[in-house]
Amino acid sequence: MTLFDLTGRVAIITGGNGGIGLGMARGLAAAGATIVVAARNTEKAEAALAALGGNGAFIALDVADESSCRAVIEQTADRFGRLDILVNNAGTSIRKPPETYSSDEWHAVLDTNLTGAFFCSQAAHPVMKRSGGGKIINIGSMFALFGSAYAAPYAASKGALVQLTKSLATAWSNDNIQVNAVLPGWIDTELTQDARQQVAGLHERVLARTPAGRWGVPEDLAGIAVFLASPASDFVTGAAIPVDGGFSAMG
Ligand code: NDP
Repeated sequence: MTLFDLTGRVAIITGGNGGIGLGMARGLAAAGATIVVAARNTEKAEAALAALGGNGAFIALDVADESSCRAVIEQTADRFGRLDILVNNAGTSIRKPPETYSSDEWHAVLDTNLTGAFFCSQAAHPVMKRSGGGKIINIGSMFALFGSAYAAPYAASKGALVQLTKSLATAWSNDNIQVNAVLPGWIDTELTQDARQQVAGLHERVLARTPAGRWGVPEDLAGIAVFLASPASDFVTGAAIPVDGGFSAMG
């Protein structure tokens, strides 16, 4: 269907080599997009590209490094001649009580989850503008809405990412660049497998609170990624959309 057709579009997915990033990459690739998997782990990236049917490329990225963010956009534009979709998905967390974070730990989380998304977006702006527009999708979290006693920098970064989304959406609307955030609920990935080991009772609490009655899987994010990357969402910008099995709707 033309409304959701991404044939000829080029998409960068930061952290597209696993978890939610790969789940979204599968959706975008199925809709016809060429995928640039931008991450650190080469082995995981090669497996991801194979899972995508080889339709794309791996470009090494450390999203916490501003020059690496700029390089990944530049290399994509050089190699494919355009950039239509940027998914700022790479993310990390360090779980501990807020009074115990070192300065390095705080910056590691903020630089990866927030600052990297800003510099990738900033570098993407002129490339998208040149070809008449684009789509930026930022991956937030339920912790953009709720506080976390064990992940203060993570929650701060995800809340700020939503405000960054709104700011870029308003600034770049005239350039036909739509900027939106997705707020995933609890999704079964490496990140949350670690969390379940570190936070007692988490698995059961998530099941009890999620109206859908299950943890999400990375493929649950494929549909929203296609929608926000395609012409179907051309009048949607500055939104933060939960994909959470009803978690945030539960009082
Ligand atoms: P994973 O740990 O499976 O994936 C995280 C990805 O981020 C990895 O592919 C990793 O790539 C990449 N990454 C981390 N640090 C860097 C870095 N410095 N430079 C480049 N890439 C980096 O976790 P998820 O799939 O769960 O997480 C994906 C996103 O979804 C994150 O932003 C997370 O906060 C968010 N999210 C996840 C939820 C969940 O329940 N799982 C809920 C809400 C939000 P590499 O292996 O190469 O380092």
